[in-house]
Amino acid sequence: MSKFRVLYMNYAPEDVYEIIRSQLPEGFELVTLKKEDDNERREKIKEVDFIIVATAKVTEDLLKNAKKLKLIQHQGVGYDNIDVLAAKRMRIPIGLTPEGTSVGVAEHTILLILAVYKKLVVAHNSLLKGEWLQFALRPDSYEMYGKTLGLVGFGRIGREVAKRAKPFDVRILYYDKYIHVSPEEKEKLGVEKVSFEKLLAESDIVSLHVPSTNETESMMNRQNFKVMKRSAILINTARGSLVNEKDLYEALVDKVIAGAGLDVFEKEPPSPENPLFKLDHVILTPHISAGTKDALIAKMRAAFANMVRVTRGETPINLVP
Ligand code: NAD
Repeated sequence: MSKFRVLYMNYAPEDVYEIIRSQLPEGFELVTLKKEDDNERREKIKEVDFIIVATAKVTEDLLKNAKKLKLIQHQGVGYDNIDVLAAKRMRIPIGLTPEGTSVGVAEHTILLILAVYKKLVVAHNSLLKGEWLQFALRPDSYEMYGKTLGLVGFGRIGREVAKRAKPFDVRILYYDKYIHVSPEEKEKLGVEKVSFEKLLAESDIVSLHVPSTNETESMMNRQNFKVMKRSAILINTARGSLVNEKDLYEALVDKVIAGAGLDVFEKEPPSPENPLFKLDHVILTPHISAGTKDALIAKMRAAFANMVRVTRGETPINLVP
């Protein structure tokens, strides 16, 4: 039986490939890279029916070689690394994979809020160094209870964050320029729609959940940090481009805001010289919000199901419009 070939567009360790292969449908074969290398991608994409995209850039130059490609399947939802117009011109659909992504990012958002509030990394590292900061951390540690959480973007992930934050007894505000949320759903989720300005001014926690676009680039900048409360923290599990990192650093050092939890950066991986690394009121993770085995299994199951739809002549789901 002829096999459909799927190229995984990032280089990953063998145990990651094993998890991916565990979800391969019958008649499908996984093609992998030997390293992160565009020349290898350019060669291998010629012979495959599908690609799975995580962080690798999918450029027009690369797609020109893809003679058999039937679907570009992003394994997440942030597709700013794909040349959408080039794919459209070549009539190759782009599928997204909210499965696994939304829950993972929502959980990570809660993790970062609590970790920043409770100085988790300082507490851990100081203990290992023989310090016992049982009282010392107290004046600057906080609970989520009673705080105001401001969600910038109220799509799939923003909503999942709201659901998980609600049991902490927080007031939840959101700002979303495009989406309509029915009064019933707002009531059910316990959220209130406000302007961006009001959200920044009233939130104790500002958490970003919008895509990377021309409109959202540097939306968190010097001017907007000044609108936030001095006691507020910023959480970014969306995209590095949303935050002007230089302005964030200055806002943190000048105590314009109180802390930050970041999973994403202007440049990934960030330079080891990144000044944010030196601040102890900041918690940083390497773009792992949806980076669990659970999420990978859910993503691959959904990604392959979309490819199977294509092989059956059905329309794939969750397509980029
Ligand atoms: P979504 O499309 O469901 O929701 C995004 C929301 O942002 C939409 O409701 C949209 O109306 C709103 N929006 C768009 N532009 C806006 C603007 N200029 N101002 C205000 N609101 C605006 O997407 P999602 O699934 O919730 O994902 C959100 C983002 O999270 C993705 O685009 C991606 O960049 C990021 N993400 C990060 C990770 C990670 O590993 N850290 C994983 C998945 C997704």
